[in-house]
Amino acid sequence: MAVPPDLIGQVRDLEIKGSEQLRTGDYSNAVTTFTEEYRFFLERQKADPNLRIHKGSPLYNLGLSLLFGGEPFKGLQYILLAYIEDIISQCSRGGADNLPASSTLRSILSVPTRLLRELENAVLEKNEKNVHLIYPEENLAVFGSLIETINKYFSKVSGLYKFEIEAQKWLEKGNFKEAQQAYDEWLSHLFEYQNQIVMRVHKGHQLHNAGICLFSQQKYEEALKEFFLAYVEDVLSAYSLGIANTLPAYRTLKDGFKINPALLRGIESLAFEKKSENEVPDPADVTKEYESRLSEEEKKLDLSLKEIIKSKEENEKKLLEGFKSTKTPENSFNVLRRWNSSTPRYPVVANFGRNGRMGNVGGGYFLWWDGKGVAIDPGYDFLPLFFRERFGVNHIDAIIASHAHDDHTQDIETIFSLVYKMNKKLQQNKQIDLFGSEGVRIKYSRLTDVTGTFSQTLTAGSITNLASRGYNFSIEAVRTDHNEQPWMSNNTGVGVILELQLPDGKGIFKIGLTSDTRFWDGMEKAFEKANLLVVHLGTIGDSQSTHLQEEGCRRLIAGVNPRLAIISEFGKELQGHRCNICERMKTWISQTGTTSQEIPIIPGDIGLKIKLPSLKVYCENTNDYQDCDKVATFEKGPKIYYLDKNRIS
Ligand SMILES: [Zn+2]
Ligand SMILES: [Zn+2]
Repeated sequence: MAVPPDLIGQVRDLEIKGSEQLRTGDYSNAVTTFTEEYRFFLERQKADPNLRIHKGSPLYNLGLSLLFGGEPFKGLQYILLAYIEDIISQCSRGGADNLPASSTLRSILSVPTRLLRELENAVLEKNEKNVHLIYPEENLAVFGSLIETINKYFSKVSGLYKFEIEAQKWLEKGNFKEAQQAYDEWLSHLFEYQNQIVMRVHKGHQLHNAGICLFSQQKYEEALKEFFLAYVEDVLSAYSLGIANTLPAYRTLKDGFKINPALLRGIESLAFEKKSENEVPDPADVTKEYESRLSEEEKKLDLSLKEIIKSKEENEKKLLEGFKSTKTPENSFNVLRRWNSSTPRYPVVANFGRNGRMGNVGGGYFLWWDGKGVAIDPGYDFLPLFFRERFGVNHIDAIIASHAHDDHTQDIETIFSLVYKMNKKLQQNKQIDLFGSEGVRIKYSRLTDVTGTFSQTLTAGSITNLASRGYNFSIEAVRTDHNEQPWMSNNTGVGVILELQLPDGKGIFKIGLTSDTRFWDGMEKAFEKANLLVVHLGTIGDSQSTHLQEEGCRRLIAGVNPRLAIISEFGKELQGHRCNICERMKTWISQTGTTSQEIPIIPGDIGLKIKLPSLKVYCENTNDYQDCDKVATFEKGPKIYYLDKNRIS
């Protein structure tokens, strides 16, 4: 029977104290403590003649303390008593095998497995006959002759367990080679001993540990062999099939080396067969024979599994590399956007001409300023276009979403998902901040709640200062006239003005993004002094449109007079006319004569890279940046080319 509840508290202190003494090598005091614990149980048992308390734990610990304290024979005695206790308590064949006493007897003390089985049989027999086996000292007498035999055999190997002490010492220092040598030497003694006595001793412990030592030296193939041999040993020592599969060698093979369980089952049944044929089967013979029995097909199968695992691991490494870009971005505003609306998801037949996948993409913008990256309105295809420019998920610190329409938000969830994966793989905790309209808040509140994201709702007129979160800019939200249906019925979408702090207190640089909106009175005033103005055209000649269209863009650009205007949010129906639309705007603005200087107006497309605060534009014909007023644009199919005017031949 188990320990009565009222005893548990009293023995716990002794157990803790003794374990600590054992752990720290204070063996003589450990002997005293465990003896006290053991006596305590005996006293209690004597007080009630019908009571049997399981005394395996103090007996085992006492044995171990004696063993490591330099008294191997006395130690063996107590561990044998613990084993007998375990058998009585478990009361089934093989039931005590996986308990500490049995495994120490087999592994460290090299007691032949047959003798242990004989002792088990004798104990179970007496127990079945109801022989009163409650006092271990009496058990010593009852099973005296068997214990005597075990002692006799032990005297031939009693010096060997010192290899364990030696190996542990090396392992603690991380000297795997020396530790492995200790286990190897121990093994060779055991093989010799086995042949002498014609009885098998268990060698799983030594083989498994030698495997670990080899693995730690990166000798994987050799380690694998040792683990196979250790597994065979476990099967040879097991009372029945399946038992060895609960032990470390099996788990290492199956989970660590991804060995097919069917193959392990094959080895198990062969080893079991060998056990009945031969008193001392060599585990190496078992694995060799198994290999020769495998058909060529089966061999190939395992080879192919190995190949799959190898390639899988290589691929996983590549996938991991993909998360992080090593590029250091420059302060810049990047247009990573082609068409508006959901046309990027229209069927391929709706694509004009043969322009492949890139002919029909949406996207967003990406701002990098002073060490922080902001994905702005990341709609359809934002991420592929972003990665194409060699940016990485690690570069995104915040998302600004002007309104909840799909072409401005579609990739938000994917960004969160990739950051989650990246964090998991790289064991870090990067967080993305989300700044968005009321509609965006509603659409993504569940996502931000679950991920614990810092999020802030942008409402018209609000100014969000982000210095405390490490950003060197603030966000001013501007009203729009463009409902956020179906997410909201009101005009809750926002345009934004990003006020970037220039270094050394040289003032601010303003980027105005109108987002989707009709023109409204006072809009020029709202975007006043924007250095870079990004306006959303939408389409042209549509009285139902809730976009700026041509007239709205003209009035706004003329009124704001930015250093550079970018026309964006083109409907795909405007393919072939984007440069022309910009030219028409320039002409109109210069003819109405509100400003003395011509304002550069550039159509926004994938690949438009603008350095900040210089507003130099990347030109494809020179692979270099040029002042924005010296840039020519040219449209071919879905693509717009940005060219250095002075270098066009
Ligand atoms: Zn839109
Ligand atoms: Zn919209």
